[in-house]
Amino acid sequence: PKESLVDMIEAAVRSYRASVALEFFGETTTYAEMGEQILRVANALRKLGVRAGDRVALVLPNCPQHIVAFYAVLRLGAIAVEHNPLYTPSELRHQFEDHGATTAIVWDKVHDTVMDFPDDMGVAHVVAVDLTRAMPLMKRLALRLPVKKAKDARSALTAQPRAKNALRWEDLLETRKLKKSHPRPAPADTAVLQYTSGTTGAPKGAILSHANLRANALQGEAWVQGLRPGKEVVYAVLPMFHAYGLTLCLTFAMSTGSRLVLFPKFDEGLVLDAVRTSPPTFLPAVPPIYERLAKAAAKRGVSLSSIRFAISGAMNLPLATVEAWEKSTGGQLVEGYGMTETSPVAAGNPFSTARRAGTVGVPFPSTEIRVVDPENPHIDRGFDEEGELLLRGPQVFSGYWNRPEESLAVLQPAGDGGGQWLRTGDIVSVSPDGFITIVDRMKELIITGGFNVAPSEVEDALLSHESVADAAVVGLPASGGGETVTAAVVLQPGATLDVEALREHCRGRLSAYKVPRQIVAVEELPRSMIGKVLRRQVRAQLSALL
Ligand code: ATP
Ligand code: MG
Repeated sequence: PKESLVDMIEAAVRSYRASVALEFFGETTTYAEMGEQILRVANALRKLGVRAGDRVALVLPNCPQHIVAFYAVLRLGAIAVEHNPLYTPSELRHQFEDHGATTAIVWDKVHDTVMDFPDDMGVAHVVAVDLTRAMPLMKRLALRLPVKKAKDARSALTAQPRAKNALRWEDLLETRKLKKSHPRPAPADTAVLQYTSGTTGAPKGAILSHANLRANALQGEAWVQGLRPGKEVVYAVLPMFHAYGLTLCLTFAMSTGSRLVLFPKFDEGLVLDAVRTSPPTFLPAVPPIYERLAKAAAKRGVSLSSIRFAISGAMNLPLATVEAWEKSTGGQLVEGYGMTETSPVAAGNPFSTARRAGTVGVPFPSTEIRVVDPENPHIDRGFDEEGELLLRGPQVFSGYWNRPEESLAVLQPAGDGGGQWLRTGDIVSVSPDGFITIVDRMKELIITGGFNVAPSEVEDALLSHESVADAAVVGLPASGGGETVTAAVVLQPGATLDVEALREHCRGRLSAYKVPRQIVAVEELPRSMIGKVLRRQVRAQLSALL
């Protein structure tokens, strides 16, 4: 793309001036108002010394200020760094040490935490966004606030004078608008540092350019045929600080002139309340959200039939979820695939009868794929053969912030002069007509007696038993080397664990070496902020238990 995200948002502001851009707990902001706020905040940040290439940290749940701050930072050619606002002070501090932001725009709950970071970390300005107005509702949602720990952090530091400049969001809005002549970012410039989910290790800051993110929004538009620019209502129930929400809500919704209804946290009651006044047409989410929403809507008798586009990603979408959703809405729920490193969407199912449930669809436009031997990635695999997925396209990132070795390890020069191939670390197979099936992550394959076992296949077998509500399968070190297949299951209410019955059930579906040796019942599975099962933590829990 020849456009930056700044060109994109300014075009949207011009085209959709009087339309509602943002809705938050019933309050609306038009595109014209949002454009005006972006330019004021940009100018205020410029006055604070923010320059092109500087990192500005955003520590915000979904709220209108998040969108405005994001585009204001980008307008200056600076880099927006997204954070999970529920991170503990030490998690936040690690990320700040990694990216070295000089300015932070944060919700009021973490203002003190960031103010208390040691001054030599270089954070000079901390802007507090007051979300207390929304707080009664937020409290009802039981957001885990890191308030207690913030106090600990402060007591250790009270002796130090605070050299930081504390500001309020309203201070930024009082400035004049940025001059039109102020230099704008080029498409190749870095727009965002987006941390990965941290499923397999510490989160890594993916460097995403304006062109990467703009490309993914355009690819999304080509994917979702039948979209009516200026007329869609997009629900942001996914956090915009994660790659999925970043592109589907922060950029895609804005570039198509949609009304973006912002939820600081997913809550089925809150979503169903909003459905009546602003019926959604477009809902990007993850399987657990679709399940809970379909169930709650049926219970409350609320119709979800306005939703024409429902997109699931980030984790495997069970067939039962698709069926329940499509029965309750009459619309389609299709699965896509991507990763933070691909801005994030790389493949998706068509919104038509051509979609193939159980697969993640076909590569996005302008996206090339290869399936290779994970040990010898120059050797290609044939159709229907399992191998590691490699990706190439305009949405592929250029490396991880501060991690040159890991960047080199995942980006392979193409050799044909055509850029680089990204090693996804995911094992897939591809049908002759191009549909991709995700098998599992390379790092999570279990090696037992020389065979590879994909945990997801074992989980599916366990989940098909009536006593199992949730399951995670990992490999634990075996005494003679290798690993043993071990399962943690959450039982259905009222069910009791019958290990032999479960193993017998698995034997009917899986080869003997895949059947879990040990099965442990747990209260719940550890999940990431968007709901992915953290098998790494399950492994730690199980090895402590067994
Ligand atoms: P980290 O890289 O820090 O370990 P992560 O890989 O979970 O964490 P993300 O970038 O959020 O961080 O997730 C990308 C991964 O999510 C993909 O590599 C893939 O394993 C998984 N994934 C994405 N979409 C799907 C899907 N539809 N089905 C199954 N897995 C998926
Ligand atoms: Mg990853």
